[in-house]
Amino acid sequence: MARFELGETLFTTDEIAVRVRDLARQISRDYEGEEILMVGILKGAFVFLADLARCITAPVRFDFISCSSYGSSTKTSGVVRLQKDLDTDIADRHVLVVEDIIDTGLTLSYLLKNLEARGPASLEICSLLNKQVPGKADLEIRYEGFSISDVSIVGYGLDYDESYRNLPYIAALKK
Ligand code: 5GP
Repeated sequence: MARFELGETLFTTDEIAVRVRDLARQISRDYEGEEILMVGILKGAFVFLADLARCITAPVRFDFISCSSYGSSTKTSGVVRLQKDLDTDIADRHVLVVEDIIDTGLTLSYLLKNLEARGPASLEICSLLNKQVPGKADLEIRYEGFSISDVSIVGYGLDYDESYRNLPYIAALKK
C-alpha cells in the first residue's frame, strides 16, 4: 500500500469557520419560517454538519445516509449501494443534503435521484468542498464552501484509510 503523509494546509481552522458561518447565514435566510431536514452523508460530512447546524437559526432536524461506491479505491464508478438508509420519511420535507466533498458528483447524482423519488418539498445540496475535475456530473450545488483543484485532501471529517478525520483543518496528502 502507498504511504502518505500530510502535505500543505489548504484551509485553516479559522478560514473554515468563517466560510461555515457564511453558508449558515445564507441557509438561515433562504429557509426562514421553514424547518430543514439536514441529511448528512456518512461518514465524512459529520464534522461539517455539526458546525454548520449550530450556526443555522432556522429549526433543524437531522438524519443520515451512508453509501458505498463500486470502483477503485480512488475513483467512483457511479454504481452506488446504500449501506444505511434514512430513518425519516422525507415526503413534503425541506431536505438539505450535506456533503463533505464532491469529486465526480456521481455518488450525489445517484443519491439525489433516489431521494427525489420520495417526494420531498424541496431538495438542495450543501457541500463544503467541490473539486474541479473534468467530466463532472451535472449537479446544481446550491451551497458550496470552497472550490478546489483535483488534489487528495484530509481533515475536518475527510479521511485517508479512516485516519485524519479529526484534524481541525484541511490538508493535502503527500505521497
Ligand atoms: P464522487 O462520487 O463525487 O466522485 O465522490 C465523492 C466522495 O469521494 C466523497 O464523499 C468522499 O467520500 C470521496 N472523496 C473525493 N475526493 C476526496 C478527497 O480528496 N479526500 C477524501 N478523503 N475523500 C474524497
